[in-house]
Amino acid sequence: MIKLEHIKKQFGELEVLKDVNLNVEKGTVTAIIGPSGSGKTTFLRCMNVLEQPTSGKITIEGQTVDFSKPVPKKDIINLRSKTGMVFQQHHLFPHFTAVENVMEGLITVKRMDKKQAKDKALGLLKKVGLSDKADLYPFQLSGGQQQRVGIARALAMEPSVILFDEPTSALDPELVQEVLKVMKELADEGMTMIVVTHEMKFARDIANEVIFMDGGYIVEQGSPEQVLVHPKEERTKQFLQLIQ
Ligand code: ATP
Repeated sequence: MIKLEHIKKQFGELEVLKDVNLNVEKGTVTAIIGPSGSGKTTFLRCMNVLEQPTSGKITIEGQTVDFSKPVPKKDIINLRSKTGMVFQQHHLFPHFTAVENVMEGLITVKRMDKKQAKDKALGLLKKVGLSDKADLYPFQLSGGQQQRVGIARALAMEPSVILFDEPTSALDPELVQEVLKVMKELADEGMTMIVVTHEMKFARDIANEVIFMDGGYIVEQGSPEQVLVHPKEERTKQFLQLIQ
């Protein structure tokens, strides 16, 4: 369903992604792990075309974009609309309530009328366990609650895949579980998810596929058991030893 072929990304002289290839099946959870600076976030941002790959092809649900050639803006917008993104920091609009944050894209992008958008947004807030917080502003919510609004907002656009960039790393430890619980529920419902994470337990318990990145390459990839318990590559072993 998602295919990334020979993705390269350079920032000036710095080659951050060197030749990354990945296939993701519908309804699966892929966890991306790896040391700081290995290119995990850049890879995720390339999938969403927040960063344009220097070269390579991205296919999502039948649409292929080849970044070796100039890409029309409408193709980028179309490709981006197939992905939802949940960031490390929630990026909510501070002057909008929780429900208004979820409604925003429905009104401006999906052109829904206000009543319909509100009904849908309230349904999504219920899904992430925030029915009683709909009318609060981000500053009145805990970090975990803000992050769950961020997830509801991504879901509102009905993307084919949700990309999570270290969604729990900015949270106090006691708030991490409530976000992981919502993510597990989404995975159980068959949502396709790609998650950059330092939560090894999440990767082990929820992911179908674990990817270890280092130095701009995918070094090792396989089931959680293969990569996290019986890694073949020396670099994977070293990384896992460091974080345990
Ligand atoms: P972390 O786990 O610390 O978030 P990461 O694996 O996600 O790290 P990236 O954030 O993708 O790594 O960064 C990889 C490299 O690319 C780093 O050296 C970073 O400084 C560089 N980089 C990322 N974005 C840019 C940018 N917009 N301009 C220049 N260099 C960048």
